[in-house]
Order: sequence, then C-alpha cells, then structure tokens
Amino acid sequence: MQRYSLYIDGTQCDSASGQWFHSDNPFTGKPWAEIARGNESDVDRAVQVAHRAFRSGPWKDLTPSARGQLLCRLADLIAENASRLAEIEVRDNGKLFAEMHAQLQYLPQWYRYYGGLADKVQGAVIPLDKKGYFNFTRREPLGVVAVITPWNSPLMLLTWKLAPALAAGCTVVIKPSEFTSASTLEFVELLSAAGFPPGVVNVVTGFGNEVGSALVTHPLVRKITFTGADSTGRKINEQAARDFKHVGLELGGKSPNIIFDDANLDDAVNGAVSGIFAATGQTCIAGSRLLVQAGVHDEVVQRVVALAKTARMGDPMHADTQVGPITTPPQYEKVLSYIGVAQAEGASLALGGGAATRAECGSGWFVEPTIFTGVRNDMRIAQEEVFGPVLSVIRFQTEDEAVAIANDVRFGLGAGVWTSDIGRAFRMSERIESGTVWVNTYRAVSYLSPFGGYKDSGLGRENGIDAITEYLQTKSVWINTGAPTGNPFVLR
Ligand code: NAD
Repeated sequence: MQRYSLYIDGTQCDSASGQWFHSDNPFTGKPWAEIARGNESDVDRAVQVAHRAFRSGPWKDLTPSARGQLLCRLADLIAENASRLAEIEVRDNGKLFAEMHAQLQYLPQWYRYYGGLADKVQGAVIPLDKKGYFNFTRREPLGVVAVITPWNSPLMLLTWKLAPALAAGCTVVIKPSEFTSASTLEFVELLSAAGFPPGVVNVVTGFGNEVGSALVTHPLVRKITFTGADSTGRKINEQAARDFKHVGLELGGKSPNIIFDDANLDDAVNGAVSGIFAATGQTCIAGSRLLVQAGVHDEVVQRVVALAKTARMGDPMHADTQVGPITTPPQYEKVLSYIGVAQAEGASLALGGGAATRAECGSGWFVEPTIFTGVRNDMRIAQEEVFGPVLSVIRFQTEDEAVAIANDVRFGLGAGVWTSDIGRAFRMSERIESGTVWVNTYRAVSYLSPFGGYKDSGLGRENGIDAITEYLQTKSVWINTGAPTGNPFVLR
C-alpha cells in the first residue's frame, strides 16, 4: 500500500503521533493508501513554518510579477500531470475519471489567471479633503491562510482557494479531507518543482476534530477558507470569530432546477439529469429539487426517468461509465437513509430507491439513481442536502409560485431556469436568492466568474477578479507634506 506523509517546509515528514489511517477506494471498497495522522503539534509546526515564510525569506522578497511567474510555471506542471493526478483522485473519491480529468485539465487556467493578476493588485491615491497630507492605500496579504477542503473535488476546490491566496502573497497550510488526501500530497510536489520556496505551502493530513480545529484556533492563522458541510462551516465560523479571523465559507445547497412549460424539453430533461446524477449527485450545486410547471410535469417526469434509467453504473475509470459509487461509507448510509425519509414522508418513488446491486458495481458503495415525485417543499427531502443521486420533483403552477418554492429553503448556492421566454429568464435571475443562476444550462463554472452562496450556503466569493481581495487587507498611509502639527488634543 502506498504511504503519504505530511508536507511541511518543502519536505515530506512523519506525523508527531507516528500514526496512519487508510484511504479507501470507493469502487473496490478496499484501502489503497496510508495517510499520516496529523495532530495539534503538527499543525503548530506547519503554521510556524508558514508564518516564517510569510514574514521573512525568499517568498516575502519576491516581486508580485515573480510570484505570478511561479503560478504560471505551476500551471504548466499541472497540465503535464493532469492524467496522473486525476487517476489518484478517482482512486480516492470514486468519481468518474472523465469528470476528474476534465477538472484537472481546466485547473491550469486558475493558476494562469491569478498568476496574471498577482502584479495588478494596486492601491489608490486618495484625493483628501485636508491640505498638507498625502494619503494612499496599500493592499497587503493577510498572512497565513488555513485551507480546509472536502472530498468531492479535492484539487479543484483547493485550487479555487490556493491560486488567489498565493497570488496575493499569503502562505498556506492545507488540510485535505481525511477521505481524499492523496492527490493534494502529490500535487504539492509540483509546487516545489515549480520553484515555490519551502514553507509557502504546507499540508497536514488528518481528521477534522484533530487537525482542522487546531488550524482554525491557531493564533497565527489569519484566514480560514473552507469548503464543506454547513454544520462544519457554522462551527468554524463561531470558533474563528473569537480571534477575529477572516473566514470564507463554501457550503452546501438544495438548488432548484426549474422547468417552465415554454422550455425546450430536450435541453431541460438533459439539464435535470445532469444536475442531479452527474458526479453521483455529490456536488454542492446538485439540482436536487426539480421544479416542473404543471403543463409539462408528467411529460418531464416520464422523460427524466427514462433518461436516468439508461445511466451506466460501474468502474469510474471506464470511459463509458456515467454514474460511479458514493465516495465514503458514512455518505452511502446517509443517502440510503434519506431515501427512507422521503418514503416515510409520502413521496412517490418513480425510479431507484436503494443500493445498487448490479454486477458491474462490484463491492463498491453504489446507490441507484433515485427519483421521487409528489414532493412538497416542506418535506425534509426537499429542505435538507442529501449529497447523492436523489432527485425530488415538485410541481408548480405559476412563475410566482416557482420563485416562492425556489427561495423557501435556507440554502442559496445555485439555481437552474429552463425557459424560452427571455423576459422570464431575466426576471427569474433577479428573483432567485442564490449565488449562481444558470438559464438553459446547468453546472457550468469558470475561473472568470464569481462563485459562492447566499444564505446558509456560505460567505465570500471564489473565482473571478474579486476573489484575490479575499486574501488582502487594506492599509491607509498618511504622509504629512507640510501641515502644521497643531493642537495635540483634537483630531487632525
Ligand atoms: P465536511 O464539512 O465533513 O468536511 C470538510 C472538511 O472539513 C474536511 O477536511 C474535514 O476533515 C474538515 N472538518 C471537519 N470538522 C472540522 C472542524 N471541526 N474544524 C475544522 N475542519 C473540520 O464536508 P464533506 O463531507 O467533506 O463535504 C461535503 C460537503 O461539502 C457538502 O455539504 C457539500 O455541499 C459541501 N461542498 C460545498 C461546495 C461549495 O463550493 N459550496 C463544494 C463542494 C462541497
């Protein structure tokens, strides 16, 4: 079995405890790697190293342009290693190679984009209302950033944080999910190869309550950027508030995918299936509530069920597999338990409804693509995030009703609208409370476009030009160019 150690100060090292834990392959259900089990003392070591790298040494002395060049060099190395890294991710999280490979091939764009942005962070000269002073602003990096990531798309979600944090000049300690640590540990070797100085990026693997919380409460960490469950995000936000740390949270969703009577149904049905069954529903932007207008409801249900029925399940490494396993045993149990919840609440099962026992699923943790109809929006299955291949279909009559149902949930991450009426497209994009609205498409993301949540789906934004400001703070500098010092007892 392959072993993965911690990565601190540019080298692999053992954890203080000397303990290891398994990483399992969700398709075989068997362990394939051993990961070092970090603890509080490893976190302290990594944060001290990152703090030193931030305060002094080669990283601090690099010009922003030179930082940008390192990010661009890293982009080239990721492109060269995309297949290898994608394969490791599949072994760890069981998602389709096709999906992980596409993500890996796209990631260099983030490093090129933020690499290009590194030397375009500018302060301002402020046209003051007081004579005899020159006032300007500096935009400075926050310091040590703790990056905490989930298991569903480890390197992509890491990249959304790492690229702007490094472009801003911060240093970083990463804590990957205990279920999918391997790709992050392989990835950081590319940083060394690209020429990043030791200590700028460090990785401490382990569990949330050991490594994660130690990072969140470490006094030298200035920002926590987290992607994961809303319950964890809430805890992190509360802990961080005690030390006035900056926090960025990308949390869960219960996204509405809304099909109106006037939609192109071929596209809408495709979008509905892609919204919930791609990535086995293990995506924060899963379109898990399918709102369908009464006039096309029955036809849409029949066509979505028919298309979902054709989904090929099996080995995620095979090019023709469409639905892979659930990534972790606890998540597998959670998805199955929600199927039970929906049935107990009186939803009608239109497809699936349990563990997949198809021969091609082997001993992996597979759940059949599952569709419930007759769902009311106040049911738990419509309000709580399942994070699996379970779709709730909700019927509506009018546009106002669709908006009310779409917004009547504590999350607000993504939303889909399927319509051929341009006026309705704009109206809906304005009325839906969510960080992203897709019209006649679903599940599209780009390094250029801001991503984040309304309401309980998170704080802050990733991607796009403003994401770098999440890792900066502004300093105002006053130079006296000739103003009298005056009365010491009044405000200047
Ligand atoms: P999780 O919250 O259980 O774990 C995420 C990370 O937090 C892991 O590294 C974990 O070890 C760590 N962690 C756990 N407890 C911690 C604590 N007390 N302090 C600090 N760190 C702690 O989430 P998960 O199960 O890995 O991921 C699934 C969740 O992530 C879903 O809710 C999903 O919606 C969300 N998600 C959100 C986005 C987004 O961008 N909004 C993207 C992907 C996934």
